[in-house]
Amino acid sequence: MNAIHDHRTSRQAKTERPPFQVSFEFFPPKTDVMEERFWDSIGKLAPLHPRFVSVTYGAGGSTRERTLRMVSRIKSETGVDAAAHLTCVGATRDEVDSVVKGYREAGITRIVALRGDPPEGVGKPFTPHPDGYRSSAELVAGIRKLGNFDISVAAYPEKHPQSPDWDADIDNLKRKFDAGANRAITQMFFDNDDYFRFVERARKAGVTASIVPGIQPIHSFRQISGFAARCGASIPAWLAERFEGLEEEPETHALVASAVAAEQVLELVDAGVTEFHFYTLNRSNLVLALARLLGVRPD
Ligand code: FAD
Repeated sequence: MNAIHDHRTSRQAKTERPPFQVSFEFFPPKTDVMEERFWDSIGKLAPLHPRFVSVTYGAGGSTRERTLRMVSRIKSETGVDAAAHLTCVGATRDEVDSVVKGYREAGITRIVALRGDPPEGVGKPFTPHPDGYRSSAELVAGIRKLGNFDISVAAYPEKHPQSPDWDADIDNLKRKFDAGANRAITQMFFDNDDYFRFVERARKAGVTASIVPGIQPIHSFRQISGFAARCGASIPAWLAERFEGLEEEPETHALVASAVAAEQVLELVDAGVTEFHFYTLNRSNLVLALARLLGVRPD
């Protein structure tokens, strides 16, 4: 047994392991109470020196001011690099460009560039604004023209729900890199084999940039199952089984959630993954524990 462990990166001491890079995703809080939790979590996660902390953007610009306010404050108050998400759905190029210029003026140098979903929902067909960017690849090219930004884009280990087939999905990812993206961050996934197969497909198609796994800790199985269904990520039967009947048992639920996320992250580490993006949902506890398993700690 020990011989097997010796080969696992996750069982190596810090001096023998490759360094890990982490980033944390937040959403702009809507209420004062939510904002308190947001800053409390930022306060706990910023000392881990993430590569960046990102703040999402309501499709159609509904959080435009809040996203800008949060990323600006994260950067000025914690010194941690902040990345602003940006979508192009329902907006003209000029409107989107002016948001990019606003980020630039606020000293934000990282953008997570996305198409966004139509207001009717994820499954509905996307119709670009007649004067707008028509895809995230076009958006990436537009951002590149406006400044020297570090640009992340989205990738889908289970295929984007609107991609007709794998070739179309990977071609679309390639277009985003050809337009100037620096890295891709994946949609949440719970079966690591989906991620491994996806990376293999992308590499075969000539994508060399990082495809950073997006890790969603399951704070609430009910809530995360709902999110997953809406964005086309599947919940494997074995995962549902682990949480079955735990709605009224918060302590066991929390312990199972940390075991599940730890298993996922450490398996990725053992397969050679060194970069991770965590969907925090503005909470710090599970993510702090996962970072610790990676040896990422506050000063
Ligand atoms: P794109 O890469 O532009 O396209 C998605 C799909 O559309 C493609 O897979 C392809 O099937 C099809 N497609 C695009 N162009 C073409 C073409 N020329 N020809 C044929 N097919 C085409 N949403 C938000 O509203 N706010 C956020 O802050 C946000 N953050 C996110 C962060 C991450 C890490 C991820 C993974 C997703 C995020 N999303 C966010 C969700 C995202 O907006 C949706 O998943 C959306 O449906 C697709 O966006 P995209 O940038 O991947 O689109």
